[in-house]
Amino acid sequence: MDISIVIPLYNEEESLAELTSWIVKVMEQEKHTYEIIFVDDGSNDNSWDIIEQLKTEYSCVRALKFRRNYGKAAALQVGFQATKGNVVFTMDADLQDSPDELPELYRMITEDGFDIVSGWKKVRHDPVFSKNIPSKFYNFIVRKMTGIKLHDMNCGLKAYKRRVVKSIEVYGDMHRFIPVLAKWAGFKKIGEKVVIHHERKYGVTKFGLERFIRGPLDLMSVMFISKFGKRPMHLFGVLGFIVFLIGLGATLYMGIHKLVAVSNGIRLERITANPLFYIALVSMIIGTLLFLTGFLGELISRTSGDRNYYQVDKEI
Ligand code: UDP
Ligand code: MG
Repeated sequence: MDISIVIPLYNEEESLAELTSWIVKVMEQEKHTYEIIFVDDGSNDNSWDIIEQLKTEYSCVRALKFRRNYGKAAALQVGFQATKGNVVFTMDADLQDSPDELPELYRMITEDGFDIVSGWKKVRHDPVFSKNIPSKFYNFIVRKMTGIKLHDMNCGLKAYKRRVVKSIEVYGDMHRFIPVLAKWAGFKKIGEKVVIHHERKYGVTKFGLERFIRGPLDLMSVMFISKFGKRPMHLFGVLGFIVFLIGLGATLYMGIHKLVAVSNGIRLERITANPLFYIALVSMIIGTLLFLTGFLGELISRTSGDRNYYQVDKEI
């Protein structure tokens, strides 16, 4: 099969029929073999009934449904696992992404050799203050931190080579960072294409203010796991060592200072009256804790089974 189109959806009943017929129209012109995989993320409107209806009309439709709402990342992950196509697209179900972009994205993957092409909603039709401006800022930070030169990391419309989606694991709210996950799995050719973006025609956005908290936390997790996920001791050990050393140095300084003073018959204040004493105490405790965290991290990363972590790309 040439193409799989994965569409995560949560309460998008009004859009589904229109979206499906639009995709089918574009795909039939292209003469590729394709499938549309709807992943219903626990909708409680009529979305699933409509998908069942669509299935009877179009044989290219496949669909999975979660019993409850797990989030867009989970829906994408399950959709990715189900794909059979050599090129995999993702798009939102709300008609904000245009199926007309698919042929050019397909060409960029198959002919230009990109591993991933991300859409770039250069002209974006979303609320300016709650979405567009925060998104620009956010993309700037992510570009700086990850070194991936994308203007629109979190665009729902993306195209992938098959092996990319089969070798990454999207969970939590990590749908925002799929290019980062891919880069860290070793896929280097990441491109972007300016895409048309429409206003939401039906329904409402599914992401509220909580994304301002989850986004930055997930970014930190991604950065941490990508660098130290398999060697936590290298972070916590170094930090712990430095902090402990500060405490130890302060303790030695105070001890020697006191001894020298006593042996010279000078009366000094009590060591516990010296602020340095508390700094030394706290540093040594925190240093030890960091060290222990490192050991625990090593134990966990060694025993917990992410057996796919090291991926062999070629073999002769
Ligand atoms: N979505 C989902 N599960 C969720 C939230 C969203 O599958 O928990 C889907 C949603 O139905 C849509 C896509 O993810 O197809 C993008 O969501 P939305 O349009 O609300 O995001 P926005 O465009 O406002 O950023
Ligand atoms: Mg949307």
